[in-house]
Amino acid sequence: MSSTPSTVLDRFLRYVQIDTQSDPNSTAQPSTEKQKDLSRLLVTELFEMGVLDAHLDEHGYVYATLPANTTKYNVPVICFCSHVDTSPDCSGAGVKPIVHTKWDGSDIVLPDDLSQVLRQSEHPDLTAQIGNDIVTASGATLLGADNKAGVAEIMDAVYFLINNPDIKHGTIKILFTPDEEIGRGTAKVDLEKLGAAFGYTIDGESVGTLEDETFSADAVKITISGVSTHPGFAKGKLENALKIAADVLATLPKDTLSPETTEDMEGFIHPTNIEGILEKVTLGFIIRDFTVAGLHEKETYLKRILENVLTNYPHSTAHFEVIEQYRNMKEVLDQHPQVSDYALEAIRRSGLTAKRRSIRGGTDGSRLSFMGLPCPNIFAGEHAFHSKLEWVSVQDMQKAVEVIVNLCQIWEEKA
Ligand SMILES: [Zn+2]
Repeated sequence: MSSTPSTVLDRFLRYVQIDTQSDPNSTAQPSTEKQKDLSRLLVTELFEMGVLDAHLDEHGYVYATLPANTTKYNVPVICFCSHVDTSPDCSGAGVKPIVHTKWDGSDIVLPDDLSQVLRQSEHPDLTAQIGNDIVTASGATLLGADNKAGVAEIMDAVYFLINNPDIKHGTIKILFTPDEEIGRGTAKVDLEKLGAAFGYTIDGESVGTLEDETFSADAVKITISGVSTHPGFAKGKLENALKIAADVLATLPKDTLSPETTEDMEGFIHPTNIEGILEKVTLGFIIRDFTVAGLHEKETYLKRILENVLTNYPHSTAHFEVIEQYRNMKEVLDQHPQVSDYALEAIRRSGLTAKRRSIRGGTDGSRLSFMGLPCPNIFAGEHAFHSKLEWVSVQDMQKAVEVIVNLCQIWEEKA
């Protein structure tokens, strides 16, 4: 029943060496076939642990069940979820993880690119890690701690629970998703099949944190139709859509409402792409705020900018389209306060200071929460993700395993 013992570090080092980069330009499901290389390994390892229903479905999701070992019949089914893919923003091929044992606080120079240096001054979370074992990549790739730290932690917690049957728990569901980094992590998830009441993504940053609030997110697509004529005979007639688009962008405020000028609970209007010719231009934006009212305010503001610019181009027209992306999970989690409360208690029981945070972004959990699986985000210890300087500490990963185990126990106790 039990496989060869494996630590959370062993698991992590094994998983990061498998390239699982997702691809936003692919229409396949999952977006890249190679993500399944890791998913298949996870199924095999779960199977070896004795989790006999573990399987990879045709959409690239891994589902598995750790059966309850409690006599209580009313313990809610809890799911732990991480994503197997890594960001398209940085290469994930040929990752060579390096363990910096008992790190002494000095700069960590990555051997495959000496310009990649991890310094305490630039990564304040490192200060608390002196004496710990830090894992980095070699300088040529990202590490993939986002989110393979979470995958390794869930796997190790399952292994621990199986080998410590004195710890009572209800039914635990395990879910590994593809394509989170390209916003499609929940596209083909089958929540009915999963059958969990509540969930946790293990995909957060600093040790001890619980994130139960995310941005609400919309996209805006503006399509501008100008008036094209031969440039030699254009006087008084030509209205150049490229210039209209440039005017719209130039009118956006310089000192506020952008990602580069906001923090904490402030939202923004962020142009992400521009495409077109004289006659027709499309402008893509993402809009972010913690409230839906705040989103609508920003969309109205952007629309007004567009309308004002268009008054200078009387024969041009524009189409303004808002596309809903995801919503702040807090709206859902407020109706089930025990989900976050138990997680905070599990963190404290692991000897950590519990910190509740909001995320300036979305998670699989944002979407899952609105699909019917209330799902805050617990720390995995991953730092500087999507970059070559990505790092995680072994001690933080061990704490995350402890938190998952405690959380399973707390749900059983409280039932
Ligand atoms: Zn992630």
